[in-house]
Amino acid sequence: MADLKFDRDFSPAYGTAVTLAPDVRRVTCNNPGPFTFMGTNSYIVGHGKVAIIDPGPADRQHIDALMQATAGETITHILITHSHADHSPGARLLKERCGAPVYAEGIHRPTRPLHRDEANPLDAEGDANLDIDRFLGDGDLVQGDDWALEVVHTPGHTVNHLAFGFTDDSGLFCGDHAMAWSTSIVAPPDGSMASYMHSISKLMLRQDRHYWPGHGGVITNPHAFLAGLKSHREKREQALIARLQAGENTIPDMVTTVYKDVDPSLHGAAALSMFAQMEYLVARGIVRCMDAEATLSARYQLV
Ligand SMILES: [Zn+2]
Repeated sequence: MADLKFDRDFSPAYGTAVTLAPDVRRVTCNNPGPFTFMGTNSYIVGHGKVAIIDPGPADRQHIDALMQATAGETITHILITHSHADHSPGARLLKERCGAPVYAEGIHRPTRPLHRDEANPLDAEGDANLDIDRFLGDGDLVQGDDWALEVVHTPGHTVNHLAFGFTDDSGLFCGDHAMAWSTSIVAPPDGSMASYMHSISKLMLRQDRHYWPGHGGVITNPHAFLAGLKSHREKREQALIARLQAGENTIPDMVTTVYKDVDPSLHGAAALSMFAQMEYLVARGIVRCMDAEATLSARYQLV
């Protein structure tokens, strides 16, 4: 099995454009945190007439930095990978400054119907106010004067998650689907593990040579990294099945055991991640729910 190696070596250079490739500049927002690592990466694509991918949170200093980094150039597109508070609310502020239309897959929404009384603890992360001018779908082409990006719908982290790949295969802006520093959060009802795993397989079929993620540094070995992500989730799933075999049947009971190597402050997120895996097991008929609804607090058993 492929090993997943995380790379936490990253200098954010807040407020400054860092050139990563001839048509790629990165400006990192100063919003570090447990889920954002050193902060959100915004990308400037092209020269002269440029696209901004993920303007980040509603942070005026960061929008100033993006305007400064593109001084003398025209921003023609604002592209959104997904509607989370650390990626998309800056679109409104940036559009006020530059007038460019906002492109995204769709509004923030759950990946499946909500259960009775279900409240997503991570819901505060959703950007309910994303104002979209142009809706994008899988396979669409977004073009500037000297660049072209193919839209790749990659649901899993959120249902509206998009990646953007240069048509010459030089690289893909992969949002929060794959990150060099950590696994991405897949938390129902916003996220879906079935979709996430399917999106990994979909990206495996592409030949992108670099990944430029929403947080942290460049991924220089995309295929090996995706294989590592896949096997990491498969190991987590095996660990979950082992807990069920050991007679534990609720997610809270299992989290403490399975995520013993994870910082306790992240256990809430870990429970949601396990819930996503449980839904995926239930969907494949490997596990069944012993209660009326397959929720975060329900009891589960192996079929
Ligand atoms: Zn993010």
